[in-house]
Amino acid sequence: MAVLTLTQLTKQYGSFTAVDHIDLTVEDGEMVALLGESGCGKTTTLRMIAGFTAPTSGEVALDGRVLNAIPSYKRNVGIFFQNYALFPHLTSYDNIAFGLKLQKLPQAEIKTRVEEILRLVKLGELAKRFPRELSGGQQQRVALARALVTRPHVLLLDEPLSNLDAKLRAEMQVEIKRIQRELNITTIIVTHDQEEAVSLADRVVVMRCGKILQTDTPQNIFDRPHNPFVAEFMGYANFIPGVVEATAEGLTSILCGNKKLPVPVPAEACPYPAGSEVQLAIRPENIMLLTAEEAAKAGGLVGEIQSVTYKGISSRIEVSGLFGQTVYVNVAGYDGPDTGSVGLVFPPHRLIVYPK
Ligand code: ATP
Repeated sequence: MAVLTLTQLTKQYGSFTAVDHIDLTVEDGEMVALLGESGCGKTTTLRMIAGFTAPTSGEVALDGRVLNAIPSYKRNVGIFFQNYALFPHLTSYDNIAFGLKLQKLPQAEIKTRVEEILRLVKLGELAKRFPRELSGGQQQRVALARALVTRPHVLLLDEPLSNLDAKLRAEMQVEIKRIQRELNITTIIVTHDQEEAVSLADRVVVMRCGKILQTDTPQNIFDRPHNPFVAEFMGYANFIPGVVEATAEGLTSILCGNKKLPVPVPAEACPYPAGSEVQLAIRPENIMLLTAEEAAKAGGLVGEIQSVTYKGISSRIEVSGLFGQTVYVNVAGYDGPDTGSVGLVFPPHRLIVYPK
């Protein structure tokens, strides 16, 4: 068992609060991602768990045992930081064996454990190579093996993949997930990459200014962000101001400029009474792009294309003439015009209503 609990954990540097009374429980074998922009307190949180930074207040506990007074080397935490360099003069084998030698384990046990972990990270044949003879991804796997070989109760990964190119990064994500599952190790990964967080973790914690904004499943973080900041961080690029109206059918619609957008909430269940100022959020890929004629038939809106930017898998289309602001639409395989009128449909179930 390894259940990690953070209770009202806080770190202040002078009058600046880097981590502000956060509460989090990471279940046994669970992988949780801390996600947030630079400076929001992710690394400081990991450092307090590892025992490198003393909390100003609050507790770090493992299986109910408070760790605050326990020195780092006795916490049984495996740490894998992005710039946690390998020893250049040691082979992969010796880099991995280093921590076990410090623990003064018998030679035979060290050999068994290192060989076992080398197999797990699929580096068996590279055991005798020095770091300079390994690719970036192979070096990362040695570093991961080194963090795991001591059989830590908790694994802390701080931006482990940020130095890798897109292909290696995708490969290492799969490897990390596989190893984490195989060892069933309680893990926290820090990242500022939303895709990495939602693809790797069982739950995602979005942080801002030292506080937790939302702790949720990847799907909820992606589809049901609790507030506009989480939404923006998760790629909701359109925020449209409006005023709540109750319709004759008992549904709710939002008057945005002189356009009405229905939302799938019965008027009596809408947390915002008629007349409230709100904002609607929608992801660019959730807006449907049609011709102006098709949109007129489908009850959509008509705007003007300002620009089309090819982004590989999809194109981003900037549309003006709606709500007095630019609307961004992402379309896969777009081969339409890059000027002229265009129709947009805002599927009601894709719109999220926030207070203004
Ligand atoms: P990044 O993604 O850039 O690594 P982060 O979310 O991990 O950011 P932290 O490293 O936890 O952020 O830093 C949180 C805040 O605390 C930052 O504003 C940082 O400048 C501040 N901070 C961190 N360490 C110290 C320190 N030793 N003294 C003073 N301020 C610090």
